[in-house]
Amino acid sequence: MLRKHPWIFSGAIAKIKGQPEAGQTVDVVASDGRFLGFGAFCPNSQIRVRMWTFDQQTIDNKFFLQQIERAVNRRKANLSFPDGACRLVNGESDGLPGLIVDRYGHFLVAQFLAAGSEYWKPEIVAALRRNVACRGIFERSDATVRAKEGLPPVKGLLWGQEPPAWLIINQSGCKLWVDVYNGHKTGFYLDQAENRPLVGQYCKDKSVLNCFAYTGGFTMAALAAGAKQVVSVDSSQAALDIAQRNLELNGFDSSRASFINGNVFEVLRKYRQQGRRFDVIILDPPKFAESYNHLKKASRAYKDINLQALRLVNPGGLLTTFSCSGLIEPALFQKIVFDASLDANRSAWIIKRLFQAEDHPVAVNFPEGAYLKGLICLVD
Ligand code: SAH
Repeated sequence: MLRKHPWIFSGAIAKIKGQPEAGQTVDVVASDGRFLGFGAFCPNSQIRVRMWTFDQQTIDNKFFLQQIERAVNRRKANLSFPDGACRLVNGESDGLPGLIVDRYGHFLVAQFLAAGSEYWKPEIVAALRRNVACRGIFERSDATVRAKEGLPPVKGLLWGQEPPAWLIINQSGCKLWVDVYNGHKTGFYLDQAENRPLVGQYCKDKSVLNCFAYTGGFTMAALAAGAKQVVSVDSSQAALDIAQRNLELNGFDSSRASFINGNVFEVLRKYRQQGRRFDVIILDPPKFAESYNHLKKASRAYKDINLQALRLVNPGGLLTTFSCSGLIEPALFQKIVFDASLDANRSAWIIKRLFQAEDHPVAVNFPEGAYLKGLICLVD
């Protein structure tokens, strides 16, 4: 606690005085009576308290105004474009545990993922309205992690105008459709915003295989950068339909892109049997490691897709591979890719390490916030 980590696990608590309700603010005190800070009580979660502050500071509407103002100020540069999109509040790392707010043009989409942020929802919505000019604030608290906090899924308008069924955002010169009602998370994966054009740079005149493509963020970046041909694979037809619409939105020739509804684990094997090869392969799978119990199984799954993909890369080509599982640390991820290269009998060199976008800052007291890692590997 003296190291200002925002989580207190149930096992670390010696005694609870009184009967705090879910989300209520509790004083956190050391065994010798020293004041440590104020946090939100989460009776149903392994993370029993999420810290709001380590200072003598009242937790009230003013606190939320201040925290949201600070979070917004950290991203001022991102707010000037009407069709811009960015993460405005990144949970624990912005001193607002359990709160995610993404901005898509004129609309904000918020996720209240912990008992504390749920408890202060009206104050948080008021603070967002005060600090960001927007037309509406929509809630997408339908994430499964809410169950760990004993909270039901919730989705709906919090304030202002309903967002349209489809929004257009601008990402590094590409236009993209976002479905904030039914898309994953708040509708889009903003954490990859900077990596898409970066990976795109390597795609000029290349054949590209984009695995776990979702709505085609990497696909559009590759096409914008002059890729010859991009194959996008995903198991969600709804996501692929949006990807296809993104192709039209950006005016790319449909002969340069194909969209495959399938399971990446199977598609990669099928391509191997067919002898298909690509110059650049992108792997951006969902979070395979949800908890420590899943670590072994997740590691095997990461190794499998990397192994199968390495076998399909043309000599001199690139494998761009990501993991968004916080539990898979960078060193472990690199080892998994190395193991995959041994089994694939392909040599690989890391030429770039990738991270989540700038608007997903990681507070240094919260290393868990650094969840996205990627490697661009040259493959022989
Ligand atoms: N690369 C995307 C984000 C990927 S999110 C972007 O840039 O926006 C992970 C995606 O993997 C989701 O779209 C999900 O539908 C898809 N998915 C999950 N398991 C899959 C599987 N086994 N095969 C194919 N797609 C899968």
